[in-house]
Amino acid sequence: MRLAGFLLDGAARTFRHRGAFSKLLVVLAASGGGGIVAYADARTDAAAESAQIASKKKVVVLGTGWAGTTFLKNLDSSLYDVQVISPRNYFAFTPLLPSVTCGTVEPRSIVEPVRRIIRKKDGQIKFWEAECFKIDPDTKKLHCRTNIGTNLEGNGEFIVDYDYLVITVGARASTFNTPGVVEHCHFLKEVEDAQKIRRSVIDCFERAILPDIDEEERKRILHFVIVGAGPTGVEFAAELHDFFSEDLAKLYPTVKDLVNITVIGHAEHILTMFDKRISTFAEQKFQRDGIELKTGFKVVKVSDKTLTMQNEIHQQFSVPYGMAVWSTGIGAHPFILEFMKQIGQGNRRALATNEWLRVRECADVYAIGDCATIAQSKVMDDILEIFRFADKDNSGNLTMKEIEDVLEDICVRYPQVELYLKSKHMSDIVDLIKASKDADKMESEGINIEEFKIALANVDSQVKSLPATAQVAAQQGIYLARCFNKRKDREENPEGPQRIKEAGRHHFLPFRYKHFGQFAPLGGEQTAAELPGDWISIGHSTQWLWYSVYASKQVSWRTRTLVMSDWARRFVFGRDSCRI
Ligand code: FAD
Ligand code: MG
Repeated sequence: MRLAGFLLDGAARTFRHRGAFSKLLVVLAASGGGGIVAYADARTDAAAESAQIASKKKVVVLGTGWAGTTFLKNLDSSLYDVQVISPRNYFAFTPLLPSVTCGTVEPRSIVEPVRRIIRKKDGQIKFWEAECFKIDPDTKKLHCRTNIGTNLEGNGEFIVDYDYLVITVGARASTFNTPGVVEHCHFLKEVEDAQKIRRSVIDCFERAILPDIDEEERKRILHFVIVGAGPTGVEFAAELHDFFSEDLAKLYPTVKDLVNITVIGHAEHILTMFDKRISTFAEQKFQRDGIELKTGFKVVKVSDKTLTMQNEIHQQFSVPYGMAVWSTGIGAHPFILEFMKQIGQGNRRALATNEWLRVRECADVYAIGDCATIAQSKVMDDILEIFRFADKDNSGNLTMKEIEDVLEDICVRYPQVELYLKSKHMSDIVDLIKASKDADKMESEGINIEEFKIALANVDSQVKSLPATAQVAAQQGIYLARCFNKRKDREENPEGPQRIKEAGRHHFLPFRYKHFGQFAPLGGEQTAAELPGDWISIGHSTQWLWYSVYASKQVSWRTRTLVMSDWARRFVFGRDSCRI
């Protein structure tokens, strides 16, 4: 009875919005006699729905990471037939991965099911758990393969068509073809990697404490090496040091003096992408903590028990180690490299897009996040078009008024101009032109193309590529979704025509990244941060800022609650050393 009531209730809820007639059909259907009527009604609805979907453009999103999920969350999915393909049916909050390696935070606390994210879109988004292994831009088809056991023919392979493709597949760890890295080192890219590292750290302690092992071997087993002195490597080293000093030292007292952590970096300092003050503070803190820094070294070979590194003058040193984590940089997935070759980008390291995030020389394909890089148009490449666009009276000379009229357009289209002016402490291009030509002459004669070229000759030196961070990926996801939302049924590409190079205004301004600062957790409840406006903050108070920012950035209240309770658990009980 209760079951029947539940079913009726569910059915009534499903059909609530279809009016009294549908409700009547549900009641008839539930009572048994009207099943066929209800079925016919549902079929008409389904046919109408599929006709509606058929008229919509197909948007296929590859990937469910930072870029993909932010795009999906912000997309008006009622405008498109949206399909998502990813081998991972969850979103992972990667900035907390280093915390997972030592059990400060549990893996389940930083992941959110994709289906929960797309459910909020009224079921309009379809998700397929599979990986794409080939993109065919000519036929607009994606070749995909699922790795979950299926009865699909041809090893679980299937093809998906698209009208618009959004590639957000991220990147993979790069080994620079160093021999032995894949076989012997851990990576820290995925949740599974962090779980493996946690088990491996505990294994090292359990192995080192076994009887009949000599001191040298115990020392080797307890030597943890991190290759890469960027934010991820440094944060992991700090986490590992905390795990050891706060928890494992008490649990494994007999081997606690044999533990050694080494960070190997290619550059002269660690955290070179941060302000010098942060990098110096981090180096001093690591020295105090006894974390060994080997800067100016490149690892050239890894075997199962030793790692060979080389300094600038090509001297080689072998270091015995128990566990190594490789965190040196990222590279494109093989199928993306293949796609890049196909579209003439074979000599690049990531998919090059224009400023509206569309893959260059490739219609209807967009790429955002770690897999892509914006190939910013250069002022000097477009200088003739810029001049012609500005020279409204076709006089072959630009007057002050003509220059002033296009100032804003140039700054919007070429962000490097603003950066260059800032570096020269100038307020606008007029200052730049005045610096290269006498002001009175400029007033009376204007400026010709050659003078215009000279004035702007160096602005492209400020073209900068964006870092591969979650912050960039998320902002790109939001931007692209907004372009797609505004595009509606217009036939143009979401970015619309460009304003300077072609006649007419583009519909959207090019993507502009806003940097909100970045953190470098250094262990012992101390964090360094670069904040907007060139502010630097280091210490315990910054650690609390880190806690609040990372709690607020969680994708759902579920993960926020779990992460915060993990932090509280760690404060009260410490981390555990169970090998699971
Ligand atoms: P990802 O988030 O990597 O997502 C890629 C998605 O594509 C995944 O869902 C994957 O399963 C899917 N995919 C892969 N191959 C295929 C395929 N063949 N077909 C379909 N789908 C596929 N950034 C910060 O800003 N702050 C930080 O503190 C920070 N800390 C980090 C710590 C660690 C340990 C790591 C590894 C990264 C950190 N980052 C941080 C960087 C940040 O995680 C990345 O820049 C960000 O994840 C990039 O987002 P993305 O969407 O491009 O790629
Ligand atoms: Mg003119």
